[in-house]
Amino acid sequence: MSKTNLHLPVIQNWSCHNCGGCCREHLIEITDKEKRVIEKQQWTAADGISIARPVIQQIGRNRYRLAHQDDGACVFLDDGGLCRIHAKFGESAKPLACRVYPYAVHPAGPNELAVSLRFSCPSVVQNLGPSVASQRAAIVPLSHEIVAGKHRDHDAPLIHNSPPHGVQQANWSDFRRFQTALDDCVADESVDLVVRLMRILAWLELVEQSQFTTIRGAKLDDYLQLVTTAAAKAQPDNDLPIHRPNRMARIMFRLIAAQYARHDTAALVREGIGTRLALLNAALRFTTGLGRIPTLNESASVSRVFDVDKSDAPACSVRFSELEVPCGGRRSDIDELLTRYMRVKIQGIHFCGPAQFQTSLLDGFRGLTLMYPVVMWLARLRAARRGAEQLDLADVQASLATADHNYGYSPALGTTSALKRVSLLSRMKQLTSLLSWYSQ
Ligand code: SF4
Repeated sequence: MSKTNLHLPVIQNWSCHNCGGCCREHLIEITDKEKRVIEKQQWTAADGISIARPVIQQIGRNRYRLAHQDDGACVFLDDGGLCRIHAKFGESAKPLACRVYPYAVHPAGPNELAVSLRFSCPSVVQNLGPSVASQRAAIVPLSHEIVAGKHRDHDAPLIHNSPPHGVQQANWSDFRRFQTALDDCVADESVDLVVRLMRILAWLELVEQSQFTTIRGAKLDDYLQLVTTAAAKAQPDNDLPIHRPNRMARIMFRLIAAQYARHDTAALVREGIGTRLALLNAALRFTTGLGRIPTLNESASVSRVFDVDKSDAPACSVRFSELEVPCGGRRSDIDELLTRYMRVKIQGIHFCGPAQFQTSLLDGFRGLTLMYPVVMWLARLRAARRGAEQLDLADVQASLATADHNYGYSPALGTTSALKRVSLLSRMKQLTSLLSWYSQ
């Protein structure tokens, strides 16, 4: 087998700090082989496992997942927040999905893979642990196990698929030129992140007007340099226009933000019709944007990790209108966090292609840009719930962990109508309004 080159994010640290979040918030589907391994482990009450229920649950024809305890935690999670399979049989005995998290591996060429991380893990958000680049030896075999050679069949994600030029496909080496240009623009910390993102949105509009049948290789480098310079001139760093998004954009944005805020644990899903009616009622309120914001179920581990220094005062209910006032954004610590987030998603090709419902590079980047106002809106909500007028870094960190749980994974965000919503916001020039409005 030819050697596979692994691209690791250069700006991210990580190690597990045993918050137990992934064992509570993820449903772990297992293969037939993993099912047989777990059955052979012969779990009993002496291991602390309730024998009243099976440790594996069937979820369809020949489909199985690990069962959950009444509080939604994985059946193998012990009271100390550790995995019983890991403790008794070692890490290699755990299902692949458990061993891989929070890494995500994506095709990057015939012999190349790109590694991204899921910011639903609080340790990723906080950048805790050794650098990911230094953990290459452990990540290589995991990556091979995940893709099992299937990455060789993937073409590069489309550059765009828009009139007047239609489908624009680049080879992998030219795709990487676009990827590097995007990463360089996001990394330029000489201006606020929101200014950088506005410039890139202008950059994308120029790219959308072009076709790339003859602009290849070194010519493409020159072209990307030109559009980067033109986009920087279009958005000066000292003159950020603040526009309130129009009514249609506000409705679409609230519906998107509500999807990113959702946290459907196994326990919640089991609650049935009552829960579904409550969700319907919440969707109606998000559409009108009137009255009080329905309760959004943040994961217990996100609250536990990011609310440590907060008072025990009960959360207040918040009106939609309260989130439309400036709340202390555009700060260097927030910019640093969201810059790192976006760069990890770009470097790991987590923002387009197979990782994002097969979206093109342009549409995928617009979706990634939308994460900025989504996270800032959720952070405003967290701040308002505790009665604060200014958000703090923990509000943004917790909101990012909540939203990224769904980014690229919630089927509701991959439907045709959800993807069209992002595209429409861009065509209505409302992505820039959302960015500026919620950056305040
Ligand atoms: S969410 Fe992250 S820190 Fe928490 S247990 Fe899982 S991998 Fe470890």
